[in-house]
Amino acid sequence: RGLQAGVIGEGPARRSALAVLPTGGGKSLCYQIPSLVRQGLGLVVSPLIALMADQVAALKQSGVAAERLDSSMAPAARSDIWRRIGEGSLDLLYLSPEGLMQPSMLERLSQVPLALTAIDEAHCVSQWGHDFRPEYRMLGRLAEVFPDAPRLAVTATADARTREDIRNELRLKDAQEFVDSFARPELALSAERKRGQGHQRVLELVAERPKRSGVVYAGSRDGVDKLAERLIAAGVPALAYHAGLDKDLRAVRLDQFLEADAAVMVATIAFGMGVDKPDVRYVIHADPPAAIEAYWQEIGRAGRDGAPAEGITLYSASDLAWAMRRIDSREVDDAVKMVQMRKLRQFYAMLDGTGCRPAAVRRYFGEAGVTQCGACDLCLSPPQAVDVTEAAQKALSAVHRLGGRFGRGRVVDHLLGKSKHAAAAETQMSTYGIGKEFSAAGWRDLLDQLMFEGLLHEEPNDGRPLIGLGEPDGVRAVYRGEQRVSMRRTPAVTDSDATGRRGRKRRIGGDNLEVGTENAALFEALRAWRRDRAAEQHVPPYVIFHDVTLADIARRRPSNAEELKGVSGVGQSKLQRYGTAVLDLVRRH
Ligand code: ZN
Repeated sequence: RGLQAGVIGEGPARRSALAVLPTGGGKSLCYQIPSLVRQGLGLVVSPLIALMADQVAALKQSGVAAERLDSSMAPAARSDIWRRIGEGSLDLLYLSPEGLMQPSMLERLSQVPLALTAIDEAHCVSQWGHDFRPEYRMLGRLAEVFPDAPRLAVTATADARTREDIRNELRLKDAQEFVDSFARPELALSAERKRGQGHQRVLELVAERPKRSGVVYAGSRDGVDKLAERLIAAGVPALAYHAGLDKDLRAVRLDQFLEADAAVMVATIAFGMGVDKPDVRYVIHADPPAAIEAYWQEIGRAGRDGAPAEGITLYSASDLAWAMRRIDSREVDDAVKMVQMRKLRQFYAMLDGTGCRPAAVRRYFGEAGVTQCGACDLCLSPPQAVDVTEAAQKALSAVHRLGGRFGRGRVVDHLLGKSKHAAAAETQMSTYGIGKEFSAAGWRDLLDQLMFEGLLHEEPNDGRPLIGLGEPDGVRAVYRGEQRVSMRRTPAVTDSDATGRRGRKRRIGGDNLEVGTENAALFEALRAWRRDRAAEQHVPPYVIFHDVTLADIARRRPSNAEELKGVSGVGQSKLQRYGTAVLDLVRRH
């Protein structure tokens, strides 16, 4: 698929490589296959135990000799693994960076012939990325410790600067670089400005997608807890997950989510890296992340099985202001801050922009010749840009006259001439009541727009933000009419817009799991059977078979082993283990 063949060929040719393959592009196969083909053990470095456990379980199901080693394992299990390494009967070994780089571990492994060393999630080595992990920097030493083993760095997200950092840190100067297209045609993206208070819109979005696995990201632990509570109260099987919860409870909830057919994980970004559940049908950002890299990685957790899925983001001007303050307060170099600020602005430009979303993301990652996706909200209903320069001038002068002493609501009231207990000094201002052309919601939209463009600026003021003028050159240019301001639609219609937005037909993920009424009973029986097998073996159901595989079996109704083998996702090992049971279910339903 895509560039896979090229990357896979480098290891056996004893060459190192850097591969950037999108989520769902099969990057793990790029080191798994060379490890099987070449003599010796394949070492895989991965940042998280959950990720390793999942991959090892899936490999074992397919009949591959794979294990992971970490300090939490019982001594007997560890010595059994070392015995198999000694015999040369193990093909793949998964380790954390700090586990691998222990002197005793390196010493022992240097006695063993290696097929290759693979560094998964290699972007973690770069401080320009969003997942910087200092322990990844140690991996540069692998070049000296195992001089004969080719090194393969793989990641799903890395812009040009991060790739440069990976090359330097991991000493891959001469390695060939493979950068695949970031297109994810199965993902339908959309984004909406937040409206009203709280999480009502998130509840609606989840309710519109019943019986599907989903992930909802919220910006704070408190937000996660509240949102999960409201979803549970609404009858949704929701689970809360964040770093403030007990470690064991988190592990239990992760298992529940992986093993359920349809659960909704409500989480902070503490959840996700390394979670490889293939049948997640949507990712909703109740609060937006702070860069396109994080956004792409987080929504990329939907639709890994290749069936249609959705990424929906809710955002506001206050989110942008909050993220800027957060970056500003970090104790990092100004150069790093500037890069993070730029990434944040670029991300919001995509969210609030008017062009195809995946196309914007792909250009951001340096892809050339990008075409429109035809599936995102902006492709399906292209927004109309409306010139609102005159209204913007009114809003800017109102903010100027009010001297930056008021919040958004008061500025809107002033424009509408409805301020409560307004002093005579205010009602006599030339801007008082000059904004009758828009509703209150319309003015709020316009103020947001001006904040997105940096023309207005929000001061935190202990949770009661005050609005002041933004970047002076821009403000002056708008006053003089040299810079036009346009919005996606006329603000005046926004009060009734909510209905239009909800009424619009959306593509809801899961279409190619459609098996037809005549096969529905068989599909359900296969899923129930899979649930039992998964529970017996303590693995997630998708490790046995993916939903798309079961749906395909239900549609095709194979009558013998040969026909069953023709279904994608059914290999020799699974045929041997489960063939008889599956064929029996097909006969009986
Ligand atoms: Zn599009």
